[in-house]
Order: sequence, then structure tokens, then C-alpha cells
Amino acid sequence: MDAVYNQSKITVIITDNTTTAMTGHQEHPGTGISAQGTPVGKVILEDVVKGVGVKNLAVVDSFNIKEIRSAVKAAFDREELSVIIVRGACAVRVPKHGETRVIDTAKCNQCGICLLVGCPAIQINGKQPVIDITACTGCAVCQQICPKQAIGPLSQIKSEANK
Ligand code: SF4
Ligand code: SF4
Repeated sequence: MDAVYNQSKITVIITDNTTTAMTGHQEHPGTGISAQGTPVGKVILEDVVKGVGVKNLAVVDSFNIKEIRSAVKAAFDREELSVIIVRGACAVRVPKHGETRVIDTAKCNQCGICLLVGCPAIQINGKQPVIDITACTGCAVCQQICPKQAIGPLSQIKSEANK
């Protein structure tokens, strides 16, 4: 609201993981469940943002790196206020996004870029990053940023290794 009012040329990024993760996953006005545990109409963040007068609003999937990059670039190129809502359910709430990912060590050059994701499932063994398959939710974020295409679904990497 202040940024609209003061005509600030900034980019505001709202990370919406659809819960209150840091204090124990309590419901909040954006979840659609009241403090009494009953289903209620939820507050739509997009409506709040537009309601205070923001003209440039993008809503992107928090597990789609290309989408996020392009929204951030478009916002930075713009000489006015932009808001980006990056939305994706907390991994603790949705424990499985897709098939477990693994690293193909034959393709990996140990650049360490995948470690920058900060995913607790990606660990380091000596110089070799490895994925703990018991902790991986299959979100595929690490796969999208690996420059050597060394990360893939477990079944695919296994079948390539057996060729
Ligand atoms: S980003 Fe890819 S190539 Fe780099 S360390 Fe990770 S798996 Fe290996
Ligand atoms: S796919 Fe990659 S980033 Fe996503 S949970 Fe598994 S190891 Fe972590």
C-alpha cells in the first residue's frame, strides 16, 4: 500500500506456501479454514494486491524456475511497482510432488549448483552431491537448475544406467 501510494519503483515478492509453516501450520485468512477449524471463504491475496492499486501483478508456481525467472526479469525491466506472488504448498503439507529425483554421477561434474537450492534432501558426500531418496519430495527444482542434466526421476536414471 505504501509502495503504491509513494509511487515506488520496486518489486515486491510474496512467497505463499499456503500455510503458517514457521510456527506450526496454523490456519490463516488465506487457507480457507477458520481458527475454529471450519471451512470459510478465504482471503484471495491477488484481490488484496489489486485492491490497493497494484497494476503489475504476476502469480507464478514456486516449483517452476523458468516461470519465476521470467516474472522477476519482467518486473526488474519495468520502471514501476510490480508484485509477484510465488505460490506452492509447503513440502510438509504435501510431502510428495512427484517421482523421487536422483543424481547420475556419470553426468555430474560436481559443480555444486544443486546445493544452492538449500533442499535438505541434497547432501554432500566428499565432493559428490547426493540426494537422500527418503527425504526427496520429487519437486524437481534441483533438476531444473542442473547445468549438466545430471538429475532426473529415479526410474529414468536407473533405466539409463542399465543400458
Ligand atoms: S548441479 Fe548437477 S552437475 Fe552440478 S553438482 Fe549438482 S547434480 Fe552435479
Ligand atoms: S527434487 Fe530435488 S529439490 Fe526437490 S525435494 Fe528432491 S532433491 Fe530436493
